[in-house]
Amino acid sequence: MTSVALVVSYYVLFPHLWYCQWIDYSDFKKVKSNLYISPTTPSKHLQKVNISIEEAHKRIGDLWGKSVGDATVILCESTEQYHRYCNSDEGAGCSIGTPWGASFIVLNLNGLNTDVIAHEMCHDELFTRLGWWKTIREIPQWFNEGLALMVDYRFVATSDSVQRYLDYKDECSYVSNGGQTVLNLKEISSFHGFFNGSENHVMLAYMTSGMEVSRWLAVVGEKKIALLVHQIAEGHHFQDVYQQLEQKNKRN
Ligand SMILES: [Zn+2]
Repeated sequence: MTSVALVVSYYVLFPHLWYCQWIDYSDFKKVKSNLYISPTTPSKHLQKVNISIEEAHKRIGDLWGKSVGDATVILCESTEQYHRYCNSDEGAGCSIGTPWGASFIVLNLNGLNTDVIAHEMCHDELFTRLGWWKTIREIPQWFNEGLALMVDYRFVATSDSVQRYLDYKDECSYVSNGGQTVLNLKEISSFHGFFNGSENHVMLAYMTSGMEVSRWLAVVGEKKIALLVHQIAEGHHFQDVYQQLEQKNKRN
């Protein structure tokens, strides 16, 4: 009885997780071990998506050194399907990590491109290396989103570290009307603080995150991303390692 109650509450609380977990029993087609597509998706669309997935993988490998994320990708074709698997109508992609380690990237064909896929893959890469608990406990939302922006060229398309920082600084200044509404990092550390607000607030939260992470990367270098995450996985706290790596680099 208890387990039935647990299963029922799991379905009620997290229906999208339920649908993702049981994708094998849906009408979605399994085209690879970790790729499922809507039954109505034409093969020409699938080819395009496959090319974008490859390109996104390459961006993750370039940023992280190598890619260890292995999320199950669920490619939807309608808003209805996307809502069922992602529990959101926003954007063209989302990533979902579970406490038991499985992870999913849900994509919507409408509006899909390499930037969207790489962005979600970056979230998944972090999740895979840290696990559910440490990602939630240790990683500020601004770092998670800022890092994902480094492989998502929708706002800033350069990979030159100094120029990238300057471009995010410009974007921030533009969204904040020349610095009239500034967000500090503490305010956007939690999921709620980051996403709960007007469209302008969320956009400023993204740009502030992009500016901070690109600033840090311009100082420490991209090779330090894997090291930072490794040390957190070993039990160190985010804030300590983040600051130590920067100070160490300044001393050198
Ligand atoms: Zn994101």
